Amino acid sequence: MTERVYLDWNATARLRPEARAAMAACLDEIGNPSSVHAEGRAARRMVEAARDAVAGLVGADAALVTFTSGGTEANMLALTPSIEAGSDKAPRERLMLSAIEHPSVLCGGRFQAETVEQIPVNENGVIELDALRERLGALTRSGIRRPLVSIMHANNETGTVQPVSEAADIVHEAGGFLHVDAVQSAGRIPCDIKTLKADLLTLSAHKLGGPKGVGALLRRTDALHFPNPLIKGGGQERGLRAGTENVAGIGGFGAAAQAASVLLGEEGPRLSALRERLETGLKTICPDAVIFGTKGIRVTNTTLFSVRGVKAETALITLDLNGVAVSSGSACSSGKVQPSHVLAAMGVEPALARGAIRVSLGWASTARDIEIFLDAWKKLAESLGKVGRSIAA
Ligand code: PLP
Repeated sequence: MTERVYLDWNATARLRPEARAAMAACLDEIGNPSSVHAEGRAARRMVEAARDAVAGLVGADAALVTFTSGGTEANMLALTPSIEAGSDKAPRERLMLSAIEHPSVLCGGRFQAETVEQIPVNENGVIELDALRERLGALTRSGIRRPLVSIMHANNETGTVQPVSEAADIVHEAGGFLHVDAVQSAGRIPCDIKTLKADLLTLSAHKLGGPKGVGALLRRTDALHFPNPLIKGGGQERGLRAGTENVAGIGGFGAAAQAASVLLGEEGPRLSALRERLETGLKTICPDAVIFGTKGIRVTNTTLFSVRGVKAETALITLDLNGVAVSSGSACSSGKVQPSHVLAAMGVEPALARGAIRVSLGWASTARDIEIFLDAWKKLAESLGKVGRSIAA
C-alpha cells in the first residue's frame, strides 16, 4: 500500500495522543456530570478540568466557556440579535461580517438576511478597517447603535491573520460587540481573548488535535448573556447549552488545548520552517506558482497556491492516488468543488482561483511529508508540462 501523507490539517487535525488518553479515561467514567453522587462528581471534575484547559489556551475565565458540538454551533450561538449586556437588553440590530468568513458565520447565524452586511477585504485577504469604520459610522448616524461584528482570526483557506484587536477598537467605539472565530488560529498562534479584545470567541477541538464534534463559545465577561440559547431544556452549561455534556469529547478537547498551549512556542517555528521548505520547493518546480496571502501575516501552517493551467480537482485526485491528502481551497462538504468566496473577495481572477490547492500542516507533520508532497507535485507538474518554465497567460 502507498504510504499516506496527510497535509489537510485545516480540514481536521490528527488526534493528539494526550487527547486520546483523556477521552479513554472519560469513556470509562460512568457518571453523568449533573449527578450528585461520586460517579457524577468524577465526570464533573473531568468536564471542569477541560474547561480550565480550554480557557487557559486563550487566557479566558473558565466560568465563561460554553461547550458546544463544534465551531459551527458556537458560531450559531454567538450570532444572534438577542445578546444582553448587563442592563442593556435591547437586541443587536445589525450583523457585520468580513467577506472571507467561514460559511458557518457567512450564513448570518440567527440574524435576518436583510440585517447582515459584509465588509470587504483587500487583495492580501485582510479586512478593510477603513470600510468597517465607515460603515459603523453610517449606522450610528442612522440611529443603529448596537451592531454585532464577526471577524475571523485566521482564515481557513489562506491562513491570513486579521487585525482583530484594531477592529475591536473600532467596533467598541461604535457601541458594538466583536465576535472572533478563532477556530484556525487557536493552538497555532497566540490567541488571547483579552489581547484580541474579543467579546465572544469561537473554538473547535478538532482543528487543534482534539476530537471532532466538540467546540466552545467563550465570553469575555459575564455581563454578556444569551437569553435565547440555541438548545434549550436542562440547565447544563449555565443554561446556555442544554443536554448532557459530551464528556469524552470535552475531555479530549481539554487535553488537546493543554498540549497545544504547552507546545505553541515550539510548533509555530517548526511548522514555519517546514512551510518555507514547501514554498521554496514549489516555486523551484513551478516558478509561476502563485501563493496567496503572502503579503499579509499568515498562520505558520497554511499554503494556498495555484499554478495556471492546473485544475484543482485533477491535482487533488492525482495527489491522492499518489498517497498525498491536500484540499482545494476550503473543504467541500457537499463533495462538489465550489469556487472560493475568499479568493473572489481578494479579487483573484476566477481561472486562477479555480486551481487553488491548500496544503496545511499540523503537530505531526514532518520534513519527510514535505519531500513526499514535492516529489508527487513534481511528477504531476511534469505530466502536465508545467515544470520549471514560465507559463504566462
Ligand atoms: N470556523 C472556521 C474558520 C473553520 O475553519 C471551521 C471548520 O472548518 C469552522 C468554523 C467550523 O468548525 P466545526 O467543524 O467544529 O463545526
